[in-house]
Amino acid sequence: MKRIFALVFCFSMFASGFVLPASAQRKAIPNLAGKVLTVLGPIEPSKVGRTLMHEHIFIDFKAPPPMFPAPEDITVIQPAPADPKVKRRGLTDFDQSLAAIIDFKNIGGGTIVDVSSFGLTRDPLALKLVSRASGLNVVMGSGFYMRQMHPPDIDKLTVRQLTDIIVNDVAFGAQGTPIRSGIIGEVGVVGKPLTENELKSIRASARAARITGAPMSIHNFEPLDEMMKVLDIIESEGVDLHRVVMSHTGGRDQKTMEALFKRGVFVEWDFMGQAPLPKEADEKRVESIYAMIEAGYAKQIVLSHDVCLQMQLKENGGGGYTYIHDRILPGLRSKGVSDAVLATIMEENPRRVLTFVAPHPRVRHSKAKK
Ligand SMILES: [Zn+2]
Repeated sequence: MKRIFALVFCFSMFASGFVLPASAQRKAIPNLAGKVLTVLGPIEPSKVGRTLMHEHIFIDFKAPPPMFPAPEDITVIQPAPADPKVKRRGLTDFDQSLAAIIDFKNIGGGTIVDVSSFGLTRDPLALKLVSRASGLNVVMGSGFYMRQMHPPDIDKLTVRQLTDIIVNDVAFGAQGTPIRSGIIGEVGVVGKPLTENELKSIRASARAARITGAPMSIHNFEPLDEMMKVLDIIESEGVDLHRVVMSHTGGRDQKTMEALFKRGVFVEWDFMGQAPLPKEADEKRVESIYAMIEAGYAKQIVLSHDVCLQMQLKENGGGGYTYIHDRILPGLRSKGVSDAVLATIMEENPRRVLTFVAPHPRVRHSKAKK
């Protein structure tokens, strides 16, 4: 299946002022409370199993990237680059990605969360096909990625319009398909300082989470005070911070991680398994996860690889989608972490965060802004 053409309806609305059709805006938001929403539809949380909370099964880093792959510009589902110099490239080959995620299935994996958001050439139909072919649950992301990849006319778009785009993905279907997003993220935040458009994107994502009951995943590398501001905005829109994953924050200094844990969010260790792999266990990373387990935060820890580059795949010397299973979990076990705690991190925590809560259509207090 080297070249399956996933027909994706072009979202030219981004280039020409985005307004959702009135029919989409009028439809009632489905109540998915108590369910996990995959690309094949809602499932019972008991079916989630071992989960990777932050991966990219398909991704392309085009500059400037298309918001979404248009039919004439399908980037997902092409042969992988043969030239070893381009191992920093993204993941655009269907068979290659399928084989890589089946490795995870074969070690007992249940669910992969693909947090490719707008600007990362998200392809809902490819995700649906790969879920069917692999037998893995796949949860698809939504929302706006880093500001370098915002839609060209984002300056003109209001929080309400951005919210409508995200709500539509979760409630009705993404990019003209009936395939729905089960998480809002990764929401890109660059900060230093936070820009007007980033603030709009964060607020719209949070508002859409409240309106639909979906969880959130935030991409952040910004300083702690800005992360706290991001969390304040999310909270002000009525989202429970226990439903928010702070990606890329695991392994930071203890003060930062503890400050995040105290807000109630999930701290995520991710982006691992790049070639060349360390010879021994990934000692530094294991040590930092272990320290936070010992400090009592096991119920707020999630782990993932953030596979997004060729150099992370096994065929190119990387750890693939089983690096955590192969290197990190044994490292934690050797320090005395029990299988029960590892199950909390790999199964129970993802299940808890991915399970939808009831939708809340209205802003419930005065802090929310237009
Ligand atoms: Zn990220």
